[in-house]
Amino acid sequence: MRVSLIFDCGIGDLFVIKVAGNLCGTNEMGTVEYGVDHVGIPLLVIMGHSKCRAVTAVVKRAELQGNLANLAKSIEPAVERARAGAAYLEEQELIDEAARENVWHQIETLFANSDAVSNAVRERRLEVVGAFYNVEEGDVAWMDKHPRQNELLRTVG
Ligand SMILES: [Zn+2]
Repeated sequence: MRVSLIFDCGIGDLFVIKVAGNLCGTNEMGTVEYGVDHVGIPLLVIMGHSKCRAVTAVVKRAELQGNLANLAKSIEPAVERARAGAAYLEEQELIDEAARENVWHQIETLFANSDAVSNAVRERRLEVVGAFYNVEEGDVAWMDKHPRQNELLRTVG
């Protein structure tokens, strides 16, 4: 997906980090911190998407090797939450629900591991919101701030 097209933005309007599973690993968080503290971005959008293959692999418990297995481990908590959150979901619904949970999970990871981001949000220099891109409709559903943002920011730092 072309993020600048989704948001109808031109070259240089967006600071985009693309990573499978919209994960917040060390390198992604370093890039976010660069964006926050050196570029001065006012809004950070953690965006998942429907029909995500990375999430699908975790839901289907695919045998993954090497670093791909580590990537899957970072998504597993979101899949478990999606499974626990509903009595029954069709597989595709479960995959999309897990992708949405993964957006929240990665925001939690970010707040828990990045003082730069947590401080910027506390100081109101930055807003962090989730979003979900529907690949079939081509539209973005805004998920707003993490529902437990204040609590997450209190327990860190
Ligand atoms: Zn994906």
